[in-house]
Amino acid sequence: MIRPFTNEPLIDFSDPENVKKQEAAIAAVEKDFGREYPLRIGAARITTDKKIVSLNPANTNEIVGNVSRAGRAEAETAIETAAEKFEEWRRVRPEIRARYLFRAAERMRQRRFELNAVMILEVGKNWIEADADTAEAIDFLEFYGREMVRLSTHAPLTPYPSEENHLYCIPLGVALVIPPWNFPNAIMCGMSSAAIVAGNTVVLKPSSDAPVIASRFAEIMEEVGLPEGVLNYCPGSGAEMGDFAVQHPKTRLIAFTGSMEVGLRINELAAQTSPGQIWIKRVIAEMGGKDFIIVADDADLDAAAEGIVASAYGYQGQKCSACSRAIIDEKVYDEIVEKVVEQVKKIKVGPTKDHSNYMGPVVSKQAFGTISEHIEIGKGEGRLMCGGGYDDSVGYFIEPTVFADIEPGARIEQEEIFGPVLAIIKARDFDHAIEISNDTIYGLTGAVYSRDQMKLEKARWEAHVGNLYFNRKCTAALVGVHPFGGFNMSGTDSKAGGSDYLLLFTQAKSVSQFMGK
Ligand code: NAD
Repeated sequence: MIRPFTNEPLIDFSDPENVKKQEAAIAAVEKDFGREYPLRIGAARITTDKKIVSLNPANTNEIVGNVSRAGRAEAETAIETAAEKFEEWRRVRPEIRARYLFRAAERMRQRRFELNAVMILEVGKNWIEADADTAEAIDFLEFYGREMVRLSTHAPLTPYPSEENHLYCIPLGVALVIPPWNFPNAIMCGMSSAAIVAGNTVVLKPSSDAPVIASRFAEIMEEVGLPEGVLNYCPGSGAEMGDFAVQHPKTRLIAFTGSMEVGLRINELAAQTSPGQIWIKRVIAEMGGKDFIIVADDADLDAAAEGIVASAYGYQGQKCSACSRAIIDEKVYDEIVEKVVEQVKKIKVGPTKDHSNYMGPVVSKQAFGTISEHIEIGKGEGRLMCGGGYDDSVGYFIEPTVFADIEPGARIEQEEIFGPVLAIIKARDFDHAIEISNDTIYGLTGAVYSRDQMKLEKARWEAHVGNLYFNRKCTAALVGVHPFGGFNMSGTDSKAGGSDYLLLFTQAKSVSQFMGK
């Protein structure tokens, strides 16, 4: 019997043994810098002349990996390979498909420090954030494995006389999986494993900012014996091969997580039928956010300030769930601003291979450019309380930045910055705070701090976000506990880590047999 799902515990880094293991893993990954990573298409390992050079964002002189870059020809081969393999993989029983996920989870536990180390060096996560990312990847494997077994054995049909009826969740076909870099193990593994366990075959196009960690995942799936061609690792540029793969007639579904701009483009391209295509492509798109924390006049102000700081600056504010707007009742506004600024000034910034640094670099030159530009915009839109500096001489470092007195509708209050920049906004009262919170095109996460149950109840129904939290931070959703995904321009309203997620990767077939009178 499969034991019930529970969330993977995090590594305790107050234990010196674990510190030693993490340091050794970081040193081992550093020794591996510059390694070549080929494409993995079916049984082939393909090295291309063109490369994605994955840099350490904390020191851009360091090359974490030279990753082969698929063009159209390789994308074509990957899709054809996946299409061919689908005919075999779709016939493998769900509980057997699930077993590959369970074994991969076990392998990830064994390689945990190494996977963490790759993320620390490739995308600048601090140790705790990197470990939480690996734990979430393990959770997805364990959770979706169980979900597939459940879906394959449970069909809620109404009994009907003289008929035997069944409803089967069957796979769709070739899934193009396009993850972001910010949860480069968890989201990449989550979307890929959901597709695989549901019986689809996958072409995985990882983010060009995090191709090395995705290669380790492909390696793990090979180690656990996943048949070749079920998962095809195919990094490449969005413009060069992304559009091509999205439009390919044999692509059946696209599982995307990333920015609104790219998500909308994929949705539009996928809606156009290519010659030879015999289905409407399914698009699962999980996109950006402009998330908030509301503090009511009766809230525990220390807890609220702590929640705001953790949500705004954890992983440099580069979470889709990060708090970028603190909306504060005017009666407690000055006090909250003071408490937040006091805590932010204590945040240590530097390379995260050093465990004492809480905030590392932002992921790329492009991210550095967008965030620093928004900091300059913020200087014209509000009162800079702390931070505001940035330096890319060695790595992409940006100070944790707080702006107070930002008006609703200001650019830094509306645009997703995806960095360590917080806008604090004053509300006349609680109703006004809710109104401000909803005044955005997004609807991903939010939190409310209040001791008044009536205020929380108002928020429960009026705050239009996919993930709403009361008296706790607005980040750190757990698989199975807080199914995750947003409304409006935050995506297609799906819930990763929830019990209906796998249905998005399947189609239901109803079979009815007349049994005689
Ligand atoms: P991005 O949109 O720049 O890239 C996402 C992926 O799309 C990458 O793999 C990229 O290479 C690929 N891509 C780019 N152009 C493409 C094209 N033309 N065709 C096919 N693929 C293409 O996003 P990002 O910078 O990697 O990630 C950050 C964004 O992701 C933020 O907006 C964040 O809010 C969002 N995000 C959302 C969630 C969620 O669950 N809603 C979770 C994590 C991140």
